[in-house]
Amino acid sequence: MSTDRQHKTRIKWLETLAQYQFDADAPGSPEYWSPKLDTMSRDHLVDIQNRKIAAVTPFLYENSEFYRRRFDRLGLTPGDITCVDDLTRWPVVDKSEMMQDAQAHPPYGTYSTINDALWRQRGWMMFSSSGSTGVPRVFRYSQKDRELWSWANARALYAMGMRNSDTMFLCSGYGPHVFAWGVQYALARLQLGMIPGGGMDSQARVSIIDRFRPTILTCTLSYALHLGRVMQKRGLDPAASSIRMVFVGGEPGSGIPNTRARLEKLWGAKLVEFYGCTEASPHAGGYSCPASGNDPTAITAHLMEDTQVWELVDPDDLKPVATGMQGLTVCSNLNSESSPQLRFLVGDYTVFNQQICACGRTHVRAMGAFSGRSDDLINLRGIKMYPTQIEQAVRGVNGIGDEYEVVILTDEAGLDIMKIRVEHSDPDVAEQVENEVRARCEVRVSVEVLPPDTLPKTELKAKRISDRRA
Ligand SMILES: [Zn+2]
Repeated sequence: MSTDRQHKTRIKWLETLAQYQFDADAPGSPEYWSPKLDTMSRDHLVDIQNRKIAAVTPFLYENSEFYRRRFDRLGLTPGDITCVDDLTRWPVVDKSEMMQDAQAHPPYGTYSTINDALWRQRGWMMFSSSGSTGVPRVFRYSQKDRELWSWANARALYAMGMRNSDTMFLCSGYGPHVFAWGVQYALARLQLGMIPGGGMDSQARVSIIDRFRPTILTCTLSYALHLGRVMQKRGLDPAASSIRMVFVGGEPGSGIPNTRARLEKLWGAKLVEFYGCTEASPHAGGYSCPASGNDPTAITAHLMEDTQVWELVDPDDLKPVATGMQGLTVCSNLNSESSPQLRFLVGDYTVFNQQICACGRTHVRAMGAFSGRSDDLINLRGIKMYPTQIEQAVRGVNGIGDEYEVVILTDEAGLDIMKIRVEHSDPDVAEQVENEVRARCEVRVSVEVLPPDTLPKTELKAKRISDRRA
């Protein structure tokens, strides 16, 4: 049951979304799902963002306890935040604030605009974060969100070059992770053929590729490497298979050049990816376009700006960085009733470029895509590095296996040290790995070389870093 103000602000917000949902059901041109939105001038994009922000803040204030408390605490009213330029009045929200709310009001917290009575009326589906830092966080999304996300994801998949002549093989366990489901629903809107690849092992999946000839493989990047190797062991060449595109999400992918090159060579396919986070879902924020990777040194990801506002902030004071400077991603999600967000700190380092892309899209691009979340930063004796830097170093060594492990521990002298275990047929490769890591991460590490196929295979998201420091 909702009050009049709750209802009215919701209707106003929904009407505003509907007003700008062009090409809702089918692509508007051969190149762009929504030619109007995808190639819109910056002024027009900002105008849409302003109108959606003006509609979303009263909606949040009237319908979300978390947001109402925060507005009141900050001494702000919805009328204070009615356009993009006003957003900086709203301090960035981070995961810990969301987690505190969820702990105080288990299990979901109070950030959603939907109360329990409405959830029961409207139906929902639960998702959880992968829990890469701390306890997995849980989210519910409504049927309305499912409609919005299938449209936005269809636009993103279309931008990657997926067309209904394609067949996707989606290798996911279909657990409560938003990525696979978000793709699943978008495929229905794209009218693309698809083979669900849950509930089967890698051998069965290889047989499916061989027999049904799908053109797009969708999974985590680590698993795509593993599946390709299983295929090779069966005497089949992934590069000669029907797969023309490998579509990944959930792990940093195309932003790590050596990993990207390894994957694209193995499958003889183009690597494309989604970028986002469960909090600012349900749909992807970032996506590859046809121009990304044409020059291998210029990997980029677009961010869909008519549905979300993306900013980069300084990691220390969380203030916006100057144009062209590196910062951490912050997302205001204007496209979800279950998980609307004002300035949520997603927290990946990148650099933005607002110039029109060679693909014709005007939406901002993350240059070099994304190479790791600030939560994952490793601090070893005061030297900071991302797991993706270690990955780039390890995979820069010829013939190294796909799997590797990084263990950080405290030695008898009380010194924090890093050990890396890799697979290679030549034990003498250790020094080369040590040199690569020293060059890229500026730390000395010890490297243990194991025979090929010793380390456990990654079936889902890779967990390569084990921090066992005292
Ligand atoms: Zn582009």
